[in-house]
Amino acid sequence: MKKILLIHTGGTIAMSEDQKTGTVTTTASNPLTQVETIINQFAALDEEVFYHLPSPHITPTHMLEIGKYIESRMDDFDGIVITHGTDTLEETAYFLDLYIATKKPIVITGAMRSSNEIGSDGLYNLICAIRVAIADESYEKGLLVVMNDEIHTAAYATKTATSNVATFKSPQFGPIGMVTKQDICFYHKWISYEKYKIENISKQVPLLKAYAGMDKSLINAILKMNIDGLVIEGLGQGNLPPTMVDPLKQLLHNNIPVVLVSRSFKGVVQPTYDYLGGGKQLHEMGIIFAKRLTGQKARIKLLMVLEASLNKDIHSYFN
Ligand code: ASP
Repeated sequence: MKKILLIHTGGTIAMSEDQKTGTVTTTASNPLTQVETIINQFAALDEEVFYHLPSPHITPTHMLEIGKYIESRMDDFDGIVITHGTDTLEETAYFLDLYIATKKPIVITGAMRSSNEIGSDGLYNLICAIRVAIADESYEKGLLVVMNDEIHTAAYATKTATSNVATFKSPQFGPIGMVTKQDICFYHKWISYEKYKIENISKQVPLLKAYAGMDKSLINAILKMNIDGLVIEGLGQGNLPPTMVDPLKQLLHNNIPVVLVSRSFKGVVQPTYDYLGGGKQLHEMGIIFAKRLTGQKARIKLLMVLEASLNKDIHSYFN
């Protein structure tokens, strides 16, 4: 039987519903720790309640702590399964994908319905995650997000629906595989193996979303902040309202890297338009175009790239 380290961090998967009010919250103990007889059929599990937090409370510092803990125990296990709240699951997943250098499977899962709700998906998703973690096919796939019978890569999985159990999708390329009653099937090969070795989280990287008629108030407030980098979800192929251009020139002049993604969830940013605020001009100013990533993932990556104090030009990490 394979040995799996099961790390709980909290989230709806570890919560219960108040049957009178319908509200959902964290319980005194994690309800998943009471299902051992069921999940022990699949693997020899070592279970750790690492955090018991709703995922909006999770920060990159927590992510790094989880990453360091996994690194310290990785050698003793065939794979790792993490349970996590779904709101920020994609950020923790991507952080750990960029942090942990291993060929062994690391799988993260969560639930949209808490432990005592009708149609609760927590135990089912956990079983699927364990099945993926023990599958030989799951080696060398990076960190995997397993929810609702689908297997997604950490880089592209995103929460697309607020309460639907089929919430995690990879809008750009689709899931990398699926879980069936009998099998764990993969249909795509994972091709990205970038890793960033970091010791601390000390950098400040805000994420700003562009909109029609955006004035200078938010970017001017950001200019007054002590930041190390900025990620902007721009418009379409990577364009911004003209009001943003001068403040951004100032940020770049102050040596603050600015990374641009699109607020469109498909396609990539590219320097096409040659008008004030257009992508071509932004690119020529020195703004970094991050292809394929969402704003929240680009922010995680920029944090890590800055933290790793690499010698190469930051542009080269965002192709
Ligand atoms: N708000 C919850 C959390 O992220 C949602 C969930 O886990 O599904 O902790």
